[in-house]
Amino acid sequence: MNSDLTRATAAELADALANRTVSSVEVTQAHLDRIAAVDGQVHAYLHVDAEGALQAARSVDERRAAGEALPRLAGVPIAVKDVLTTRGIPTTCGSRTLEGWVPPYDATVVTRLRAEGMPILGKTNMDEFAMGSSTEHSAYGPTRNPWDLERIPGGSGGGSSAVVASFQAPLAIGTDTGGSIRQPAAVTGTVGTKPTYGGVSRYGLVALASSLDQAGPCARSVLDTALLHAVMAGHDPMDSTSIEAPVPPVVEAARNGDVSGMKIGVVRELGGEGYQAGVRARFDEAVKLLVDRGAEVVEVSCPNFDYALAAYYLILPSEASSNLAKFDAMRYGLRVSPDGIGDPSAEQVMAASRDAGFGDEVKRRIILGTYALSSGYYDAYYGSAQKVRTLIAQDFERAFSQVDVLVSPTAPTTAFRFGDKLDDPMAMYLNDIATIPANLAGVPGMSLPAGLADEDGLPAGIQILAPAMRDERLYTVGAALEQALAERWGGLLIDRAPQLDATTVKGA
Ligand code: GLN
Repeated sequence: MNSDLTRATAAELADALANRTVSSVEVTQAHLDRIAAVDGQVHAYLHVDAEGALQAARSVDERRAAGEALPRLAGVPIAVKDVLTTRGIPTTCGSRTLEGWVPPYDATVVTRLRAEGMPILGKTNMDEFAMGSSTEHSAYGPTRNPWDLERIPGGSGGGSSAVVASFQAPLAIGTDTGGSIRQPAAVTGTVGTKPTYGGVSRYGLVALASSLDQAGPCARSVLDTALLHAVMAGHDPMDSTSIEAPVPPVVEAARNGDVSGMKIGVVRELGGEGYQAGVRARFDEAVKLLVDRGAEVVEVSCPNFDYALAAYYLILPSEASSNLAKFDAMRYGLRVSPDGIGDPSAEQVMAASRDAGFGDEVKRRIILGTYALSSGYYDAYYGSAQKVRTLIAQDFERAFSQVDVLVSPTAPTTAFRFGDKLDDPMAMYLNDIATIPANLAGVPGMSLPAGLADEDGLPAGIQILAPAMRDERLYTVGAALEQALAERWGGLLIDRAPQLDATTVKGA
């Protein structure tokens, strides 16, 4: 293992902790020191809970010293996207409306982290209420991409991917409603999985679009991603959409990585026009590597994927407009008094508070959603979008009757520059063209690094998609690719990322 504890994988840290060659306090402190050294540049954390993390680390060390048998990741620190509630730790969802809110309860995935004995380093930055692809919509300022500080780290979970990519945490939790785990993973050269819908509890995940949201693991290697996936997943009676079935054997799959005889479908509709040449080239090479390892590759058509983005931007805003109605300054959220009104009505306070508490993108989607749900338009917009959603699910069913997994580039481009797409919502929305179909159908997806694009030297991601509750297939294919690519790139791609000591960093 690397003597710098922040460069180690979670799997290596877990082994070293179990062997007692290192303590959780040492590992946790090393990450807190790294945060103090580099997060001023990256701005991936909205809140760092040094005291809480060290306290959890001390408790794990004491239990281990007492001879207690501990879970696999006990003592390995982690960061959590600021959309998951954490008891005693502020949770803002990247919004002014929740500034200063300290939840009285933990999300189920957070409860599971604590039960595993994982110190929580802090909460990561995100686009406001998880709406965006760049973290530029965070009310607290954007996160920077560790590969190039003038570029976006993806979104909405740019903070979670950036903490992992800049070695400020070995693991992080993200959430993915339309791509917010996978697209940030792609543009930061890291790994991220959106599990099967219902595979991971949504209890305590502040809802963006309840039928699409899913929390999942972010890490630097496929095995680390699987280890965290296994901790997070599994039935939860607190979430009525949680699936009551065993967790797919993701860790075993990640340790195996044998794709010989597997059938892999390249989705014709994801990867043509509009995809950057270097992203396309790395994707094609990755597919060839899978063939070299014994997989059979065929092209598969999913014709309705062409309508996924349009359907998503009706369904998501509809659900979001309903979910965000609770931030009304009465039950939740910021409360401000309207200017110049002596004795304001409840409605006037609500209007002023929502105006002050929400950013432009959130307002845009609330307006879109309430319009799509309004009587007279409901059938034409929301109803039609739901029908398209069914067609997309049927495309997946047909495809998975022919192949074991589907693959595509994760995002059409590498990381873009700040401001490039901020004033053009449609351009921003197009980032998720390849990731959205999985959310609409509820199937699992992973992004992992495919290499660096020739034209800009920035990471490009490959996406793997599998049938519902066959999440282990993502890890089998992911592990095979990671091994093959490590031979080509001489190790994990992320180890080639800038070290972030101010002298070597582009844009610092
Ligand atoms: N970028 C997509 C959006 O803005 C996805 C967001 C997400 O997955 N949370 O809706």
